[in-house]
Amino acid sequence: MLRTPVLGGSHPESSGLSILVKQTWGALRSHWLRPERSCSLGPCAERSKNNALHSLWKGPASVRGGARQSPINIRWRDSIYDPRLKPLRVSYDAASCLCAWNTGYLFQVEFDDSSEGSGVSGGPLENLYRLKQFHFHWGAVNERGSEHAVDGHVYPAELHLVHWNAVRYPNYQEAVTGEDGLAVLGVFLQLGARHQALQELVRVLPGIKHKDARVAVGPFQPSRLLPACRDYWTYLGSLTTPPLSESVTWMVHRKPIEVAQDQWSGPRRGKSPDDEWPDEASASSSVHVGLDALRTLLFTALGEEEKTMVNNYRPLQPLMNRTVRSSFQATEDSAGS
Ligand SMILES: [Zn+2]
Repeated sequence: MLRTPVLGGSHPESSGLSILVKQTWGALRSHWLRPERSCSLGPCAERSKNNALHSLWKGPASVRGGARQSPINIRWRDSIYDPRLKPLRVSYDAASCLCAWNTGYLFQVEFDDSSEGSGVSGGPLENLYRLKQFHFHWGAVNERGSEHAVDGHVYPAELHLVHWNAVRYPNYQEAVTGEDGLAVLGVFLQLGARHQALQELVRVLPGIKHKDARVAVGPFQPSRLLPACRDYWTYLGSLTTPPLSESVTWMVHRKPIEVAQDQWSGPRRGKSPDDEWPDEASASSSVHVGLDALRTLLFTALGEEEKTMVNNYRPLQPLMNRTVRSSFQATEDSAGS
């Protein structure tokens, strides 16, 4: 009801809607410490139960207010095709990949952002945004795990590539809270074929099982994690972890990438990680790959009672008066699929 249905329509600040939005938001804020009431969407209630368990969502950070919070449920038919949206231009330098670490909430891979070697531009963005890190959100089971939803459908996992506006801000920390400070590419993961780029990352996971563990990662090209189809939805939102800053231009890819849940395969002893996949019968040292590998990580530090790192997604947030734009035209066949 609060949405602006067409591009260029009335802005909330220029109408009486802004008061309504503030009142509605105030009511919603009071429910944030009880996430099962954070929105009225069907899948949300079940998803929220698990999130409420993590210490990240206890305390003041979980009640920060705002009118453009993320993630959201993207309603395909309500998104507006905007022919002015340019294609995304992604240019990443594999050599700028630094390390992977267990943040205690996520599996995250960091990049050297001291130069413009890796970044994204185009799409809805006015500037080049430098790549800072990427990370994943996933579920305990395949029925949930992604942060965004599409027509109420959630995926087993979601990848976020986080970039900051190096034209307007001197560093990532200042960009986080600044206007147009961040640009995040979202990619859904669905079950299917094994994904070799992801498998290369999975090999480092045993070394970062516990919170705060960190390992160096050699050259890694993150564009290999993007789907071939670059169609996307875009909207103005927030970080989905504290400080929940409303500085993010989101670009969520329409097409997921495929990842296997688990496969009995792995690098043969003595072979380099870049060698071809072994056939399944010859795999002598089996490892978890794909989604099950992510589920071997822990929220907890060494010496603490072990708690498996799963369901590290934030519940859906109300769209409020925002518009979701798409870079592509929905067809009757594709809509709702
Ligand atoms: Zn994220």
